[in-house]
Amino acid sequence: MIFEVKKESHGARAGVLKTHHGKVKTPCFMTIATAGAIKGLIPDEGKKLGAQIFLSNTYHLHLRPGEELVARAGGLHAFMGWQGPILTDSGGYQVFSLSKCRKVTQEGVQFQSHIDGTKVMLTPEKSIEIQQKLGSDIMMCLDECLPYPCDRKIAEESLELTTNWARRCRAAPPWRGRRDKACLVPTTTSSLFGIVQGGMYPDLRERSAKELVTIGFDGYAIGGLSVGEKAPLMYEMLEATVPHLPKDQPRYLMGVGTPQNILEAVERGIDMFDCVLPTRNARHGYLFTSQGPLRIKNESFREDFSPLDPKCSCPVCKKYSRAYLRHLLMSGEILGLRLLTWHNVAFYLKLMHDIRASILKGRFATFKKTFLKRYGQTP
Ligand SMILES: [Zn+2]
Repeated sequence: MIFEVKKESHGARAGVLKTHHGKVKTPCFMTIATAGAIKGLIPDEGKKLGAQIFLSNTYHLHLRPGEELVARAGGLHAFMGWQGPILTDSGGYQVFSLSKCRKVTQEGVQFQSHIDGTKVMLTPEKSIEIQQKLGSDIMMCLDECLPYPCDRKIAEESLELTTNWARRCRAAPPWRGRRDKACLVPTTTSSLFGIVQGGMYPDLRERSAKELVTIGFDGYAIGGLSVGEKAPLMYEMLEATVPHLPKDQPRYLMGVGTPQNILEAVERGIDMFDCVLPTRNARHGYLFTSQGPLRIKNESFREDFSPLDPKCSCPVCKKYSRAYLRHLLMSGEILGLRLLTWHNVAFYLKLMHDIRASILKGRFATFKKTFLKRYGQTP
C-alpha cells in the first residue's frame, strides 16, 4: 500500500491511497458493508455515487457465514461482487458492543455469539487470520474498546493490552491457504493499521501513538472516540494524537461521525472515516441535507412535493418528492429504505468530494465555514 499526500490546506490533507484493489482519494468516507452488504445498495450503485472503499466487519462475517466459506468463494471481493478496496475491522469493537458475556485476558477475548450463544475466542492472531481469509485490503489490529467515562488506571492497563495485541497482530504469520482463481490478489498483500487508544487522557493517547509507531504499521487509526463524550473532548484527543503519527501515512478516525465532526477532524489531519450514520439514520427517516438534518416522517412533509435536498444531484433528489419518500417510509415500503439510504450515502460521499476539492484549491477553511453556516453549527 502506498500513500501520498498531494496537498495540505489549513491542516487538512488531500491524498491518494493505493491498494491492490485500486486507488482511494482521501479524505474519504468508507461506506459500511457490515456483513458484506451495504444495507439497501449494491456495490456498483455505491460506486456510481462516488464510493471508493467499503468497510466490512470481521465479527459478523466470522460468525456468519464464516471466513472459510468466504475464502472458498474467492475472498470477500468475489463473494460480494466488489473489486474495489475493502477495509475490515478486527472484530474487537463488536465483541465489546454486541456480546454481553465476554472475558478479556492477555491471550484475547472470549465472548458469546449474539446469534446462537456459542463461545468464541478471538485472539490477535485469530483476528488477523480471519481478515486474511476474507481477503481484506486493509486489516485492523485487535484492540480493547473502553466504555466512557473510564477510570485512568483502567485506561492505562487497557492501553498496555492493546499495544501488546498490536505487536502480536504485526507478528502474526501470513495465511497461505489455497485460493480460488476468482480471487485476484493473494491475502498476503493486506496492509495492517494499528489503533491508538488511551481513553480521554491526552498523555495516554500520545503514549499509545508513539508505541504503535515504534512497532510500525501501514497506517494508524484512532479508536475509542465518539463513545458518548462531547465533541470538543474528541477534538482535544485528536490534537493529542495526530502530531505523534507519521506525516506520510494514512490516519483513520474510526466510527466518526456527523458532517461537522468530519470537517473538524479533517482540519486536524484525518484522512479516513467510517460511520453508520448515513445508512442507519436513513432507515429511521433521518436525512442529511445541505441545509441541515431533516426528519422525513414529520407531518409537514406530507404534501411537500419538493426534492429532499434541492442542492443534491443524487438520483433520488432528481426524481422523487419529500411527500413520496415520506409516504414510502410511513407505509413500510422496502423501496423507501433503499431510496433514503441512497440519498444519505450520496450526501456523505459528495461532502468528502467537496472537502477534497477545497483542499486541492487551498480553500478548505472557506469551504468549512460556508458549509457549516448553511448546515448549522451544532457540534
Ligand atoms: Zn439526494
